[in-house]
Order: sequence, then structure tokens, then C-alpha cells
Amino acid sequence: MKLKILLIIICILLTACSAGSDAEYSYDFFAMDTFMSINAFGGSAEEGVKAAARRINELEGLLSVTDENSDIYAVNHLGASSVSSETAKLVSFALEIADKTNGALDPTIYPVLNAWGFTADNKRVPSDGEIAKLLENVGFGRVTVNGNSVTLGEGMMLDTGAVAKGYAGDETVRILREHGVSSALVNLGGNVQLIGTKPDGGDWRLGLKDPTGAGNIGVLTVSDCAVVTSGNYERCFTAEDGTVYGHIIDPANGCPVDNGLLSATVVAAEGKLCDALSTALFVMGEKGATDFWRENKNFDVILITDNAEVLITKGIADKFTLDEVHKNFIVKVVE
Ligand code: ADP
Ligand code: MG
Repeated sequence: MKLKILLIIICILLTACSAGSDAEYSYDFFAMDTFMSINAFGGSAEEGVKAAARRINELEGLLSVTDENSDIYAVNHLGASSVSSETAKLVSFALEIADKTNGALDPTIYPVLNAWGFTADNKRVPSDGEIAKLLENVGFGRVTVNGNSVTLGEGMMLDTGAVAKGYAGDETVRILREHGVSSALVNLGGNVQLIGTKPDGGDWRLGLKDPTGAGNIGVLTVSDCAVVTSGNYERCFTAEDGTVYGHIIDPANGCPVDNGLLSATVVAAEGKLCDALSTALFVMGEKGATDFWRENKNFDVILITDNAEVLITKGIADKFTLDEVHKNFIVKVVE
């Protein structure tokens, strides 16, 4: 009898263990000013997801522009400050991409963004004079990172908002893998990062949002990569004259991007690269973005234009399917 019970217990334990290795854990939360969700399979999924969420909160604590205890707040309010080595690394990375993209990405655009009211939800259209004056305090070339110390030029402010979620995604993926997770869909406010394939072995099917309305424009079928979109269709406001202004600013003129692009989606292995480039390519416009891709090719990109074109680089062209209801869009492969 005792042996029978023992055998039953062993059987239950064995089943519990095998169920553990196929574990699934999902978690939705709000961080970095946006909704996030992590869906992980395999290994210690629950522990991994919880550790990743803690990590994201920790990163927000370092990188937030508004949190008085953050590294970025200290730099912005003191003009120079010693920061954690990872903040220093992320700022250096943003400066490197700023340089490579000729300032299309500029982590010092914050004063201009602030004048448009995007930082405190009091949206307004600043005068040309006000913008010109603020642009005097914008210029990534006047930020110095020396070891762990970051110094700004007079009147400048730093904002890692265009790369922070991508970096948080990379950290999430790293932590999940450390916990044995073999398959995951991480969505940090529209920044998607994937580990492996779906648990059934099939590629993940990601809907690409239609920037002109509700629903998706098409589906991207991919695995084990990051997919990050930038556009001015979500965080935006309509001025009295009917013009729609979005939260990505062209540092060349201090105004919300208005160049014919509705969105730029970058696909690559690393989230922070995707995040930095999606913002920069959206600023650069169709010609600038496709030229940049031809010169670099260490990523793929999908551009949606206001004349109903979907431009997609050849590396992922066969992974994209246009939605039936969007057959009016023309898909062009960029080579
Ligand atoms: P989202 O945060 O909506 O996913 P992005 O990654 O494109 O989109 O980042 C947009 C954020 O980056 C803005 O909210 C602002 O904080 C900042 N930003 C806006 N324009 C620029 C720019 N040209 N260069 C760098 N950062 C920018
Ligand atoms: Mg970005």
C-alpha cells in the first residue's frame, strides 16, 4: 500500500516536472509610460517573466526624464553627472546612431519636444521663433560621455526615449533565456521581441498596424528577432487648423515629422538597434531611409507611405502578407 502511494506520488512529481518544462507564463503591466506584455514558454517561465518585469522597472528608474532619482534627471538638472555604466553605454549608443544618421536621431531633442507639449500633455504649436531659439540647445555633438560621466552643453537636455524600450526588450530577452525560456513574445508598447518560434514550432504572426486607421495593414511572419515601429499616428494631436502633429520631431527643423512616411518598422536581432533606427528612419523619410539601408544592410525595414505604398527590403519581403482589405496598397521590394 505504502509503495503504491509512493509510486503515485513519484508519478505526480514526474508529471509536475515535465509540466514545468513546458510552462507558460503571461504578464501584462504598465511601465515606461506604456502597456507591456510578456508571454513566455518553457524553463522557469514565471520566474523569468517576473525578473524581466523587475528589470524593466529598474531601467525606467535609471532612464526616466521625469523621475528625480534617475540618472538622466541628474544629468539634465546638473548639466553633468556620474551615471551607472549601463546608462553611460546606452547614451553612447544613442550618440553613435545619432552620428551615423546625421542627427535624424538626436537624444537632445527634448527641449523642442517639451515646447510642443508632448512631455506633459499640454500639446500646442510653438512659434517659429520659439523653435529656433530652442534648437540652439539641441545637438548630440555637444554631449560628452567619459567613462561613467555624462556632460551636456549649456541649456541642453538628454532623453533616451527613442531607444530605452528597445534596450529594455534586449534585457528582457536575455533574462528570459537565462531562465530557460525557449519561446516568447515580448511586447513593450509596440516594440515586439521574439525568442525562438511559437511553442508549436511555427513562426510568430505579427500584425503590422495600419497607420491610416484601425486594424492591420498586413502580417509579418518571423521568429527570433526584434520588430520595432515608429510613427506619428498614435502619440499625436490635431491643431485648430486640422493639422495632425506627432511626437517624433525632425531635429533639422524642430517640427513633428511630415515627410510622407506614416510609419517605419525595423526588423533585426537587437531591440535597441531596431528602436534607434525606426525613429531615425522615420525622420529621414523614404529616400533617406532606403539609402541608409543600402549603405548598411544590417537590418530590414518596412516603410508605409501616405501614397499607399509599402516599401519592404528584400530580406523580409517574402515574410510579409498584405491584408485583403488593404489591397489598394502597393507593395514594393527595396533592393
Ligand atoms: P515610441 O516611443 O512611440 O515607441 P520612438 O521609439 O520612435 O517611439 O521614440 C519616440 C520618442 O523619442 C519620443 O517620445 C521622444 O521622447 C523621443 N524623440 C522624438 N523625436 C526624436 C528624435 N528625432 N530623436 C531622438 N528622440 C526623439
Ligand atoms: Mg525608437
